[in-house]
Amino acid sequence: MKVFKFGGASISNYERIKNLPSILENFKDEKVLIVISAMGKMTNALEKVAAAFYEERKEDALSLFQKIKNAHLDLVKYLITLQWKKAGDSLNDFFTEVEWMLHDKPVKDFNYYYDQVVCTGELLSSTLISFYLNEANLPNHWIDVRDLLRTDDTFRDAKIDWEYSQKTVSKKLIPLFEKNNFVITQGFIAGTDENESTTLGREGSDYTAAIFAQLLNADNVTIWKDVNGIMSADPKEFKEAVNLEELSYKEVIEMAYYGAQVIHPKTIKPLQNKLIPLYVKSFLNPASEGTLI
Ligand code: ASP
Ligand code: MG
Repeated sequence: MKVFKFGGASISNYERIKNLPSILENFKDEKVLIVISAMGKMTNALEKVAAAFYEERKEDALSLFQKIKNAHLDLVKYLITLQWKKAGDSLNDFFTEVEWMLHDKPVKDFNYYYDQVVCTGELLSSTLISFYLNEANLPNHWIDVRDLLRTDDTFRDAKIDWEYSQKTVSKKLIPLFEKNNFVITQGFIAGTDENESTTLGREGSDYTAAIFAQLLNADNVTIWKDVNGIMSADPKEFKEAVNLEELSYKEVIEMAYYGAQVIHPKTIKPLQNKLIPLYVKSFLNPASEGTLI
């Protein structure tokens, strides 16, 4: 079993999403859990919706959300040829849930509403991509990660309930691989025992991939990024920056500690627990070696 994570940049527009099948074709005969982030800057856009709602600027919240809806519905038009009606309906179910809330008045903490709104980015992107890949002859099963990963209710920084999540992964996720080699789910988000949505902290999709790797005892994890792996320094600042072929878990934690935007710092621990290798590779240049951690 492998775990792949596609970040926001790798699915930020039509061309980039169109690039996914060529990568996944190579893994058709393997079992892969595919963890998807929200498209491009959607999480930032959803944060603005949550803030407008909380400040009781209802019209702003609704119109900001309308833009997010349009962006996703446009992609349905361009990417999905046969099942566009069904795909649109699935997206609409998520839209409706948010809009219901936006018509209410906030009575709870901001962080609670933040998570209920912001989680939509991953639900939308993963649904769209699941439909698209099914039509691109890459059959897959979509699953709502909130039914798999249970957390406490520390909204915006939720803590995983490892024991409960292990049980649901064994009971609900593993059997899905009997029918499909690819299962698609969301990064960054999870759910509480009261069916509230939670998030794991910004850029948390890497962490989600590592959580699943630990729970599935995966052979390895690949984070697909828009760079050729991890570099020795920021290439925008240092011309002499080179690609690093191999790093230890410890070196990655240190890099994150000193502020390098490499991968989410929480990602390493679950991998280290089970000595699971992590690859960081370029989705623009999948044949290149990338970095092995
Ligand atoms: N979509 C979330 C964010 O932008 C999670 C992630 O991309 O890892 O923070
Ligand atoms: Mg991201």
